[in-house]
Amino acid sequence: MLFLLAGEEPMSQAICENEYIYSLPTSLTMTNDILLFTLDITAASQEIQLLRGRITQQFTPYIFVAILPDMSDIDKLKCSREQQYGPLDDKSKIAFDAWHLFQAKLSAKKDIADLTEGLPWDAPGFEPPLKLGASDIGGDEILRTTGTATSLYLIGSVAMGLVIVSSTMPGLTFTYDETIKTVAEVMQGLQFLTHAEAQAKVSFVYNIHIKTIDEIPPPPDFCGDKYDPCEAIWRDPVLQQLGFPPKEESLVTFANQLKDNNKTDWSFVAFFTKYPLYHFAYAGGVRSCMQYSNGNWGPDNIHKVFAHEVAHIFGAADEYQESNCNCDPSGYLQIANKNCVNCAGQHVPCLMDENTLSICDYTRKQLGWSSKIFNPKLFKQITPVCDNNNNLFVFAVDVHNTPYLTGRYLDVWSGSWDAHWRNAPDLQFVTALWDYSNTVHVFGIGTDNTLHVNIRSNNKWGSWQANWYQAPRLASISAFTDRDNNVYVFGIAPDNTVYLNRHAGNSWSGWRGEWYNVPNLMSIAAVADRGNNLFIFGIGTDNTVYLNSHEGDSWSGWQYNWNFAPKLKSILPALGIANTVYVFGIGMDNTVHVNFRSAGKWSGWFTGWGSLPQMETIYAATDNQNVLYLWGIGMDGLVYLNKNEVERQWTGWQANWGKPRDFYKPNLHFITAVFDRNNVPHVWGIGVNNYVMGNNNIEYFNWRNGNNWFGWEYQWSM
Ligand SMILES: [Zn+2]
Repeated sequence: MLFLLAGEEPMSQAICENEYIYSLPTSLTMTNDILLFTLDITAASQEIQLLRGRITQQFTPYIFVAILPDMSDIDKLKCSREQQYGPLDDKSKIAFDAWHLFQAKLSAKKDIADLTEGLPWDAPGFEPPLKLGASDIGGDEILRTTGTATSLYLIGSVAMGLVIVSSTMPGLTFTYDETIKTVAEVMQGLQFLTHAEAQAKVSFVYNIHIKTIDEIPPPPDFCGDKYDPCEAIWRDPVLQQLGFPPKEESLVTFANQLKDNNKTDWSFVAFFTKYPLYHFAYAGGVRSCMQYSNGNWGPDNIHKVFAHEVAHIFGAADEYQESNCNCDPSGYLQIANKNCVNCAGQHVPCLMDENTLSICDYTRKQLGWSSKIFNPKLFKQITPVCDNNNNLFVFAVDVHNTPYLTGRYLDVWSGSWDAHWRNAPDLQFVTALWDYSNTVHVFGIGTDNTLHVNIRSNNKWGSWQANWYQAPRLASISAFTDRDNNVYVFGIAPDNTVYLNRHAGNSWSGWRGEWYNVPNLMSIAAVADRGNNLFIFGIGTDNTVYLNSHEGDSWSGWQYNWNFAPKLKSILPALGIANTVYVFGIGMDNTVHVNFRSAGKWSGWFTGWGSLPQMETIYAATDNQNVLYLWGIGMDGLVYLNKNEVERQWTGWQANWGKPRDFYKPNLHFITAVFDRNNVPHVWGIGVNNYVMGNNNIEYFNWRNGNNWFGWEYQWSM
């Protein structure tokens, strides 16, 4: 909204246009917050970003504070300035007065010690600010502080509904001075949070509402130990004044509306009142509620208690003794709460433990301030293998073609992804194969289609060899072994010509084209059954299905349009219970087609298998008891699991596979798995992070310990 006032020239679009890029500063240090005015908040914000500055708190569309690389940058601003353009509207005037009250407090404080600074929240004579526990909230998942959809982590822009609940009742009215004192304290608390982590680029967009109600306050002791009876008395009439149905659920609607209207990453609602509360300050779900008196801490400490409550809303856990905190994980990244005073080890001063403006490393990570979000690993592909010694090797390639290895050696995970391990060159793609002689082969396709190979035998990696066996230029590799440990390495050239290098006995055949008159193919996949019949499937460049099978002593040769197969995008053969071979195909319209071979006979292709007619992709892994696990990614990006535990019987697709309380809800496009020698499955997915800083190539990990799946972990091994 613009405030064009009498006698003021409207700021013309031309004045405010950014026609050139300002010279970029080399220093990363920033000015303090500078109070600025604008007639066009969008243009002002864009201009400040061009200067590499940032709005930290926007109080109204007319008045805000920003940081700039240098004080001299203020002179470059055309879309905002330090002088106001004319008289202020009501809310801008509150913000203006509050900002100056805050500045006056900062100046005065230089000489006056704050006697409560650094006192634990549960110090004798003081009450701590609370967080609503899951039990208080009745198990409604959307209201959990950790996992609240509008405040998963504190990175980016946040819309705040700042609602001051005044009253016509005696003693419950906010005077103008008390209103600006409240806003000044909120500014001070949020200023701390906006500057606590530069990489988080936190900014708050205020939506100030001053509401007066005439509700009669409840009698003393009415509130009891539940938040709702006292909250509802003032909350519901205020929600009604704001245009929402008068009930608690409307808070979520309010928060969603704040986020949408202000086009921010996140949102929450902050209430201040003089009405009785079950506790003077608490937070839960999308809101915090605070009394102006602020318990025994007093109004001068509202900023610290408020910052504490906002931290709760974004996933931070309490750390003071009376909260009964423990080391349990909290926040989007599920970070252990190790600075909780009840958790063993060293402790440091922290906003979640005491009345102070500092944040410990655990709280920082609970707020999402971690390289896992600032600088995530973005993988195209992950390939795990397990060797005879139960070592796990997990190979990955990121979107920049950097190859990585992590692993578990002698039961200990390395804990990090090793980039360019053993001097691996940039690779577009890797394939890994374990064979029955306990050799691990890694085949990588370089950015110029050169084949690179590394082989681990006798528990030692070799060095990377380029152009292994004078390989032709290749676009992809498929490698597998039969039960006699003959190793097949198929390479597909960029023109879809197929080459084979086969290891039999003690030697490699060298690369051969035209093996059994192989047609040009897009992909190859194979399975060996327990009778050592080998089935090698190929998808032609026109999506025709081919099969070359080895049964008994002879090869069938490549069979065109095998078994009247439909045209397929991809094919996945897998071995199930009782030596049944299953072949899953994804059709051109993503229809799932199945063919299986039981007692030496193929069923023929059929569709409509299972309850999900269409799939984006599927992945299969067989456990040590021959149970076949089939993971599918539906057209909606959800993960499904189907298991074959009894001959020719499947459990059916289990949707949303992972963990019931999992709030990552990853939307995947890639999934892979391996069972280790103890039959423990390890599953990796790559998918979309649906939230801010969203990305298409986020890595997730899930594994099972005993009967319990751990649940998806975001950015595992970082
Ligand atoms: Zn708390």
